Amino acid sequence: MSLTVFEKISALKAELKKMKLQGKTIGFVPTMGALHAGHLALVKRAKQECDIAVCSIFVNPTQFNNPQDLERYPRTLSTDCDLLNTVACDYVFAPEVAEMYPSTHQMKFNFGDLEQVLEGKFRPGHFNGVGIVVSKLFHIVEPDKAYFGQKDLQQCAVVARLVQELTFPLELIICPTLREADGLAMSSRNKNLSAEERAKAPLIYNIMSQATDMLHNGVSIAHVKDFVAESFKKEPAFNLEYFEMVNRYSLQNIGTLEPDKSALVIAAFLGKTRLIDNFIL
Ligand code: AMP
Repeated sequence: MSLTVFEKISALKAELKKMKLQGKTIGFVPTMGALHAGHLALVKRAKQECDIAVCSIFVNPTQFNNPQDLERYPRTLSTDCDLLNTVACDYVFAPEVAEMYPSTHQMKFNFGDLEQVLEGKFRPGHFNGVGIVVSKLFHIVEPDKAYFGQKDLQQCAVVARLVQELTFPLELIICPTLREADGLAMSSRNKNLSAEERAKAPLIYNIMSQATDMLHNGVSIAHVKDFVAESFKKEPAFNLEYFEMVNRYSLQNIGTLEPDKSALVIAAFLGKTRLIDNFIL
């Protein structure tokens, strides 16, 4: 079966209803497009574990707190569809903004402590937008399994809370972060980096690797944070927003390393492009 693109909610729902009546299971991968191998790995996994893979491509305005970031976000629908064909994706849902938001959105999600730190703190309203769009997409697709990337660790925790507290009848699958050969976490935003910036971008991975080694060797998190801050100061193209050691599920700061529960999380601007990454320790 080749890829079919839907722009309308009603048409996609009608098609998926037919599939469900035939007993087919649905794996769902929500994205904002400008797809790369990280996204495709999620779709491949959905296809391995479910009969049908659905990928949504929607640059969701309600999760952008910065209008320039929304405007600069890369949009490459036709290439995305070619890529999705290579991994045997069945359906793409690529709605216009008016289809998803026919009227102004009034409802607000509050994810409590989860949204007061890190991405929630530096991007006010971001997780409200994520909560709205993911809920809408889950209602539209009604998947058996939904696939998210560990690259957005805090988003994984927010969506897990959404699924648990609103009893969405689906299984959440978190997939590992895919990286470029030089360690840079794949991201649609990497397309916005100039050649010069792209050459500098692996610094994030290199510093995260060094920080991990230091922690494993018993260096305190306070010293590691100083080392990271100093390392970024030496490279003026970067502007470090945060670097923290947190519990990977609650995203709250922790003072000592707890194997399998701790994560290092980082956000930094490289020029105008904001990059995030995390390592599970
Ligand atoms: P986005 O299009 O950035 O909203 O991402 C869509 C999904 O792909 C999210 O669940 C992301 O966490 C996931 N994703 C983004 N980058 C990567 C990556 N490098 N490796 C694995 N998954 C990723």
